[in-house]
Amino acid sequence: MRTFFVAGNWKMNKTGQDALQLVSDLIDELKGCPKIELAVCPPYPYLSQLAAALKGSNIGLGAQNMYWEAAGAYTGEVAPAMVAEFCQYVILGHSERRTLFGETDESVNRKVKAALAAGLTPIICVGETLAENEAGQTAAVVTRQLKGGLEGLNAEDGRRIVIAYEPVWAIGTGRAATSDQAQAVHRDVVRRTLAALFDRDTADAIRIQYGGSVNAKNAAELFSMPDIDGALVGGASLKAPDFGVIARAANAAR
Ligand code: PEP
Repeated sequence: MRTFFVAGNWKMNKTGQDALQLVSDLIDELKGCPKIELAVCPPYPYLSQLAAALKGSNIGLGAQNMYWEAAGAYTGEVAPAMVAEFCQYVILGHSERRTLFGETDESVNRKVKAALAAGLTPIICVGETLAENEAGQTAAVVTRQLKGGLEGLNAEDGRRIVIAYEPVWAIGTGRAATSDQAQAVHRDVVRRTLAALFDRDTADAIRIQYGGSVNAKNAAELFSMPDIDGALVGGASLKAPDFGVIARAANAAR
């Protein structure tokens, strides 16, 4: 049975002081969730102090991006080992990175390999835009992103990754996919592609999070679906009580 994994993507939000307060609130809020894996992914400048604040808690730490090179003249970039000094996870290929910062399946693939080599668990985001969805291209787009992002990985690598299916039209819009819509993509597209890339057992072991307007109201219904193994949460992860409701729904689901 796959362990549920709920992670918060804070994006470019919070001051340093607010970040410390949120983590302190989350430590209290999430104490009652022993059956699931939990993480927060704050902006880079807060990773060091939040790693210290989270020590001994049941909440892991992730970065929202990283570069694939180990060191050198890459102004503004952060290396895998720098992230791994503080974090267990790294979000890669988020749709905002793809749309606003030109990330491609190929760059995501380089980052996935570098993250694994650094001992990090990559949370690899895939998902179709509204136009692609309306054109009936969801399966083709998500399959292409998975094949490109995971190229060259073996089954052992496969067991160390997390996939987040995040339909772009659902991110930050308040319009989440229905549980049936998400389940269908998780089972028929993501898990099926993972089985083709690796093998059935590996595909069955990989956690597939859903992301896109997950909130305190819709989380339990999403988590009742057999191929939804947790969530990557944006907006609702910035409020400790809301993230707490989502985490407790996951904790109760399996
Ligand atoms: C995200 O950015 O990964 C996300 C899912 O955002 P939101 O929950 O705000 O839709």
